[in-house]
Amino acid sequence: MRRLAPVLAVFVCALLWSAAPAAAATPVTWCGTDRLGANRTPDVDTGSQYRVHVIYAIPSDGQDRFGTVASQIATDIGAIDEWWRGQDPTRTPRFDLFPFPGCTSQFGQLDIGFARLPRPASVYADLNLLQLSADLSAFGPPAVKNIVYYDGQVLNSDVCGTTGYLADRDGGAFGFAYVWLRASDCEVDVGSGRLTAEVAAHELTHNLGAVQRQAPHHCADPQFDGHVCDNRTDLLYPYVSSGATIANAVLDIGRDDYYGHSGSWWDVQDSPWLMHLPLFPLAVAVDGTGGSVSSDAGGVSCPPACSAQLENGTRVTLRPVPAAGGTFKGWSGACSGQGPCVVTMDAAKSVSAGFGSTTFALAVKVTGRGSVRSSPSGLACSKSCSRAFVANSIVRLTAKAAKGYRFAGWSGACRGTKACAVKLDGAKSVRAGFRKRA
Ligand SMILES: [Zn+2]
Repeated sequence: MRRLAPVLAVFVCALLWSAAPAAAATPVTWCGTDRLGANRTPDVDTGSQYRVHVIYAIPSDGQDRFGTVASQIATDIGAIDEWWRGQDPTRTPRFDLFPFPGCTSQFGQLDIGFARLPRPASVYADLNLLQLSADLSAFGPPAVKNIVYYDGQVLNSDVCGTTGYLADRDGGAFGFAYVWLRASDCEVDVGSGRLTAEVAAHELTHNLGAVQRQAPHHCADPQFDGHVCDNRTDLLYPYVSSGATIANAVLDIGRDDYYGHSGSWWDVQDSPWLMHLPLFPLAVAVDGTGGSVSSDAGGVSCPPACSAQLENGTRVTLRPVPAAGGTFKGWSGACSGQGPCVVTMDAAKSVSAGFGSTTFALAVKVTGRGSVRSSPSGLACSKSCSRAFVANSIVRLTAKAAKGYRFAGWSGACRGTKACAVKLDGAKSVRAGFRKRA
């Protein structure tokens, strides 16, 4: 994205936007303090592997302003999120958040990476994207896109942001979108949630796969490849004007070129790097003490994690997990029956899993003269006896012959003549035979 030529910019800006000043963005205080050259884990969002991560990068000879810029970046990302949801209430980028302890604001939790690059500014100054992306590869797993705020001198002072690739499905090495913090003609205002925020949103949207050449308003001039030329307020117009602010930008005017359109070409609204809103709460309860509930989404594993905010349309599979001796009696609420349950999150949902403990009978019959005892205790028999034990527990039986008798062996659920261990995975019966000594 380039800044407009100054004369035109002032004129256009005054004409189009002076009547509608945008509200200032809510300032965000970043909750981190550390300079970390990698993704922080755990991530707040566990419902998807896709992330839009943010990096502050300086060349090896650059001045480290991370301490002040971090909160400014968090403020701008918060403004992008708010703007995006205003343009499309069903989507927002999956900005990577980290649960900093005690952090009370959503974008205070922004996971901002720090990169002290291995080369001096002179190597990167002509917007050397290949070298930058190679030197930032530690931040580039395939499911991650990165917005890089590069704080070094650049030669093209009127280029406000750059991204190298229309990567509809690729993150990693193809997933870097750059904002040039020292592009001196770009009226860089990071932290105000205005022009630089628009630059970041513009470059990210390119990187999410816009604008494909089939789009009806794709710019005819080849130097503006990947942009739309129908209206200068469109986020993907090739220029940004003096005084511009993201609040006045429009995400695909007419919804016919790159976002929510009806054409057959790639639609950024389908990007896996966008979260599906609204989030709906899922509440799981366990009734009784005989088991727990596992799931495949949202970190729900109850107890202890019995609730989550899940994206609109998420399909969650819940499974009852009976404990030893427990039995699953069935679901209630949004699930029914006895098997695994799939919940589609198209509204707030609550589910309860009923468990109880189960017992099975162990019966012992003695022939001849002798006795049988159990461990755990409960059975002590010289004729016939029966007792219930917790399901799936193991009961050990020992046989003791009366005077003048010997133990001849087990039958039924036991074999042989040694102490016997019976697994109570159902009702069981055992016979113990004693014979008179010859
Ligand atoms: Zn552009």
